Amino acid sequence: MEHLTDNFGRQISYLRLAVTDRCNLRCQYCMPAHGIAIVDRKELLTFKEMYRITRVLSELGVNKVRLTGGEPFVRKDFDKFLEMLSFNDLLDEINITTNGALIAKHISKLEALKINTVNLSIDSLNKENFAKITRRDVFDEVYKTLELLEKSSIELKLNAVVQSGANTHELIDFIELTKHKKLAVRFIEEMPFNGIGQREMKDTWNYDKILKHINAHYEQVIPIQSHKSSTSKNFKIQGYQGSFGIIPAFTRTICNDCNRIRITATGLFKNCLFDEGVFNVRDFIRNGASNDDLKALFLSIVKEKPQNGFVAEANRKRNKTVSESMSTIGG
Ligand code: SAM
Ligand code: SF4
Repeated sequence: MEHLTDNFGRQISYLRLAVTDRCNLRCQYCMPAHGIAIVDRKELLTFKEMYRITRVLSELGVNKVRLTGGEPFVRKDFDKFLEMLSFNDLLDEINITTNGALIAKHISKLEALKINTVNLSIDSLNKENFAKITRRDVFDEVYKTLELLEKSSIELKLNAVVQSGANTHELIDFIELTKHKKLAVRFIEEMPFNGIGQREMKDTWNYDKILKHINAHYEQVIPIQSHKSSTSKNFKIQGYQGSFGIIPAFTRTICNDCNRIRITATGLFKNCLFDEGVFNVRDFIRNGASNDDLKALFLSIVKEKPQNGFVAEANRKRNKTVSESMSTIGG
């Protein structure tokens, strides 16, 4: 089997696929209050196109897919797409990132389809604060999803974007959740992907500051060995059932072992979160490309994967400053 390998010897094995640019929430760090300009439905990849792209990539060594968005569960028939995708025997893992507000009723189906991991985004454990951050009053639904997932066969990770002054007083509450719950909390450095650009912040809560804050609270924070391409550096508190990790998304210290590519909901191929997109796969398919054409394309464009996120950002031509919403990129 031919493998996707970039010019730095990194093997690409993980696809992040955004299934929609639409979302039912309006998280402050992701988009403005009025939302973002969504594209016409016809511009979105169809599920058939997504299945085909994934199949071709899996024949080139991609064995994990993360489905994200926007909010994947707002797309009609997303559960049927999961069913379709589960027929791809070359995939070892299908994972989902979701805000969890709409998924309680789907959990048994996700278990039946052997979804490996759900990353549930929850930025506050306080109902009022959650509503302030997400601009929607759905904390109860999201927390219900958390509890159902924790009891299910699906591995549960919580994503919390660390936002200076908005939820930094809750970091320890999140870790305390891992005392009796077998889940992994992951604190994500905030990036300027919010539809506007860098937000005014009192303090910069980067990896070091987050870890220092946690170390000051606990006597023993134990590092855990993570797998090579892990996006997070992971730890646990002695005696706690779960664990926590920090994702240096903005300080970008994890690029050396990156095994990821992204495809946005409109079919834009991205080698790096910080690049502007290198090729539109949707147009290529709609202009009649064969699977062999697609393979040749993927093998050649991963060669352009920049060494790290700083190089990707410096290479941007159209919009020099990072400001697009994470909801259109697929987080
Ligand atoms: N709607 C789903 C959700 O919220 O989980 C999936 C899409 S969302 C864009 C994927 C992840 O990106 C979420 O965990 C979210 O918290 C994270 N994210 C969004 N904007 C971000 C930003 N500006 N900086 C860091 N992470 C961000
Ligand atoms: Fe929607 Fe997820 Fe962005 Fe929040 S982070 S606005 S839930 S896409």
